Amino acid sequence: EKYIVVTGGVLSGIGKGIFSASLARLLKEVGVDINVLKIDPYLNVDAGTMNPNQHGEVFVTDDGYEADLDLGHYERFLGVSMSRRNNITAGQIYSTIIQREREGKYLGSTVQVVPHVTSEIKERITSMPGKVLSIEIGGTVGDIEGEVFLEAVRELAFEKNRNDFLFIHVTYVPYLRVTNEFKTKPTQQSVQLLRKIGIQPDVIVVRSEMPIDSQSLYKIALFSGVPRDMVINLPDVGNVYQIPETLYEAQVHKLVANRLNIEIQDKPLNWT
Ligand code: ADP
Repeated sequence: EKYIVVTGGVLSGIGKGIFSASLARLLKEVGVDINVLKIDPYLNVDAGTMNPNQHGEVFVTDDGYEADLDLGHYERFLGVSMSRRNNITAGQIYSTIIQREREGKYLGSTVQVVPHVTSEIKERITSMPGKVLSIEIGGTVGDIEGEVFLEAVRELAFEKNRNDFLFIHVTYVPYLRVTNEFKTKPTQQSVQLLRKIGIQPDVIVVRSEMPIDSQSLYKIALFSGVPRDMVINLPDVGNVYQIPETLYEAQVHKLVANRLNIEIQDKPLNWT
């Protein structure tokens, strides 16, 4: 099994979910057996009790699970019905562990974030069906809640084969109108945060208001230690349903397939 891990930097709400769902669709279209997992670091067990003014619609899956709207994005982009298995929240992980502890199943050991919480997360990840699993970790790198999930995927990449993992970091580069320049510093800092916890990204997806000049993209490649062709600029589009097409034109499926050593079919994108 191979894994694509999508993390976010700088800000939330920059389109990490839409990008992940679009990439999954693109890979599905070129013949990859892909499955998706959205990880939400919040402590709610599910989104059923969350205020929709804060979290958008509650998306109810076919098996009656109340997820947040991100799972709806996946269902619509991928064209596959989502189920409760496609979402993990920190609340689910912790309640499983606390219940197990109450039942005495840890046999007297001290129950800890590492290794018990990380093991439960790894277990949930590795039990997912599909040849390629796309894992989107909610929030941004540096959030306290997200740390344990990043640690779990870091450990998993170490325990399995690092070459079977593709780490994609989605960041935002703001444009300063007064000085007419793109600012890459926040991206630089979020990549540093990621590296500090032991994850070297393989791909940087740079969201921006407008297309970014190639010099700035080269700068991002250089300080991230990522080859220039693995830095992908994704400027704002008028309609998010264009994004699978944009990724196809940029041949992102080929970059991913080469890096993960998976076979893909050479065919036009069936997406309207
Ligand atoms: P995140 O997962 O980073 O929180 P989402 O994927 O949920 O962000 O996207 C946040 C909002 O930004 C959504 O309303 C989405 O429609 C919009 N959006 C995402 N990507 C783009 C893009 N490339 N161009 C324009 N709007 C976008």
